[in-house]
Amino acid sequence: MDSEWHIRREIVEFGKRVYEKGFVAASDGNISHRLTGDRVLITPTGFCLGELKPAELTIVDTAGRFLTGPHKPTSELPLHLTVYHMRPDVQAIVHAHPPIANAFSFAGESLEQCVIPEVVVGFGTIPTTPYATPSCKEGAEVIKDLIGDHDGLLLQRHGSLTVGKDLREAYFKLEKIEHAAHITLLARMLGKVIPLSDDELRRLGKVSERNGWRSADTIWETCKNVGRVPPAADRQPG
Ligand SMILES: [Zn+2]
Repeated sequence: MDSEWHIRREIVEFGKRVYEKGFVAASDGNISHRLTGDRVLITPTGFCLGELKPAELTIVDTAGRFLTGPHKPTSELPLHLTVYHMRPDVQAIVHAHPPIANAFSFAGESLEQCVIPEVVVGFGTIPTTPYATPSCKEGAEVIKDLIGDHDGLLLQRHGSLTVGKDLREAYFKLEKIEHAAHITLLARMLGKVIPLSDDELRRLGKVSERNGWRSADTIWETCKNVGRVPPAADRQPG
């Protein structure tokens, strides 16, 4: 694992990107990273992710006990700790409020359908959690059924949660979610969104497997249960 100082600088750098890309406003959003010895480095409550300094971050243990730092941790700490408990493979987490993806959940719409090949290969699907009041413990409860099998979630009426083996990966998944939401929105404005067909999914699965990405079976199992996946002949434009 990288040194603690390196990880602090990385959180500051990616915090700036999250803020400058407009994925959060003001003091919204939070970022964390595992440290050695069951500790977690996490952004403090009430700070703008675009203005953080490395020394302003907080260290807690995985039971949520405050260890060191000049400020209290983010109020979304239970959300982060739940992920670390459930996913030993996850090293870093980004929670943000990407506006277009968020708008889908405010409209009661989903990003779960298998539409964009790169998203299917990278994420499988992007499901939406049930609603929970932000900054409450229930926010950590509503992710439990989904975070075990997904690296990117939409939190209903709240934003996104993305995880990765490092912070760069967790951040790029946030970018991909917002990009997917943007493309989906534009496609809807142009007419309607047509999911990948059974045949297209099978071919995509083979390519994915050949490249060492997600297995063809996983892609098939994930996509067949979300939304309409008609054969090409059944498609009707408009
Ligand atoms: Zn939030």
